[in-house]
Amino acid sequence: MTDDCIFCSIVAGDIPSRTVYESEDVLAFLDANPLAPGHTLVIPKTHHERLNDLGDGLAGEVLGTLNALVPVVENAADAPASTVAFNNGPEAGQEVPHVHGHIVPRFEDDGGGPIHAVAGARPDLSEEELDDIAERIRNGN
Ligand code: 5GP
Ligand code: ZN
Repeated sequence: MTDDCIFCSIVAGDIPSRTVYESEDVLAFLDANPLAPGHTLVIPKTHHERLNDLGDGLAGEVLGTLNALVPVVENAADAPASTVAFNNGPEAGQEVPHVHGHIVPRFEDDGGGPIHAVAGARPDLSEEELDDIAERIRNGN
């Protein structure tokens, strides 16, 4: 629990939310400023800023909950598809520094875009640069 974290306050019951699912470790509730009807956030109950701050067990709980809720949310919103995503860090648009996965119901002609639209202009990478970044990811550096 972090005192000045909105999502910790929701977990503590100090700020109301429209909870749609709860387990020992995970909470899911409607986004207060939804991008679509049924826009749902899935969070660990403990405070961690980024996805990569979660231990394997909690990451599995959060991702498993997202996976289970996607069809339920789509069905409730009568949506044929959804975008499921994390803004992981402020440069990626994360405003609330408590890990949360978004489930955004999507509709044909809803005016939105694919995940590919989030990062701006595509870099023109050489074969060498592609080999280099692949190597660095493989080696974890
Ligand atoms: P982010 O940009 O950090 O990935 O998304 C944060 C999300 O949290 C936003 O979509 C925003 O609408 C939602 N949000 C911010 N404050 C509250 C709140 O107090 N209650 C709920 N239910 N959602 C919130
Ligand atoms: Zn928090």
